[in-house]
Amino acid sequence: SLFSRRDPATRGLGMTSQRARDRLIERLAAEGIRDRRVLEVMRQLPRHLFIDEALASRAYEDTALPIGQGQTISQPWVVARMTEALIEQRLPRRVLEVGTGSGYQCAVLAQLVEQVYTVERIDELLRNARRRFRKLGLANIRSRHDDGRLGWPDEAPFDAIIVTAAGAELEHALLDQLAEDGCLVAPVGPAGRQTLLRVRAGADGWLRESLGAVSFVPLLGGTE
Ligand code: SAM
Repeated sequence: SLFSRRDPATRGLGMTSQRARDRLIERLAAEGIRDRRVLEVMRQLPRHLFIDEALASRAYEDTALPIGQGQTISQPWVVARMTEALIEQRLPRRVLEVGTGSGYQCAVLAQLVEQVYTVERIDELLRNARRRFRKLGLANIRSRHDDGRLGWPDEAPFDAIIVTAAGAELEHALLDQLAEDGCLVAPVGPAGRQTLLRVRAGADGWLRESLGAVSFVPLLGGTE
């Protein structure tokens, strides 16, 4: 596969990017990520291709990094935890992501499920992400430039929905686009007090489960 091709040492890492990824995966496992499928996909996927070359030497640190337009590529541990939470109970077939950003989270999902739909409100970020998907040969991703709070009604329902920016509340338009037995994972709350929630339909309404404190950029309206 493209990912197993020998890649050149990433400048400044002082080791091959594969070695750097192996170390990152050891660290994620030590910090509680249990799902082998998630760890293996992240071990293969070159995160340095999702950020600016000037930052590539920091690609395998467990930290969020700037991607322009005031946005960030999420911290690897957060990507791993959200992915794990999304596929834990049942492997979804069709997943909607709100907030494409760099495309990294989307590319992780595309290695695990049949089809990923992703929506980004900032056109320039989306164009960069699409270029990366093409370069990596990821053919099971459909993307659109729109306000992702509205979901993607024409393709609903989705088996799972992941939101990678924090809203004040859960978006009802998104919950309405969940398939029966589907689950949504989203950070909710104001800066400094955000909680990662997993939501599923229960017999008497939505079941919310808190997965811990997180720190995300805000979910904004409109497009640019
Ligand atoms: N999943 C991304 C990744 O792996 O790089 C995370 C990117 S960042 C933490 C969140 C992204 O959500 C930003 O690119 C931001 O522009 C986008 N965003 C914020 N509000 C949005 C909205 N209403 N619809 C779509 N995207 C939105």
